[in-house]
Amino acid sequence: MTEKRRFICTICPRGCEIKVEVDNGRIAKISGNQCVRGLEYVRQEVKEPMRIVMSVVKVRGGDLPTVSVKTDRPVPKRLIPEIMKELADLEVKPPIKIGEKIIENLMGMNVNVVATRPVK
Ligand code: SF4
Repeated sequence: MTEKRRFICTICPRGCEIKVEVDNGRIAKISGNQCVRGLEYVRQEVKEPMRIVMSVVKVRGGDLPTVSVKTDRPVPKRLIPEIMKELADLEVKPPIKIGEKIIENLMGMNVNVVATRPVK
């Protein structure tokens, strides 16, 4: 069964609108991409959408109550609710440096959660 889908490519600021026909998980037809990177982007979106996750983690006894964090690589979008719960349950102690690993090897994915600002 062919499914029509539409994407906005986020790879560069041009933001091409890309239309595809997906047949059994494979791209049968594509239009709107102005370069091959758009094709790669849509292939990944169809196969497994990936996102950088940004959030905050509680800090105990710091000059700020939370520290902003992000994953250092994109993670499967479907896992974001589980990741957000893990981050909500976490509490860290200062001092925290920018880039410091708050969680190493998140869920065994070889992805780290790192601080994006310092906390004293
Ligand atoms: S398809 Fe190419 S030109 Fe268009 S937004 Fe994506 S990367 Fe940019």
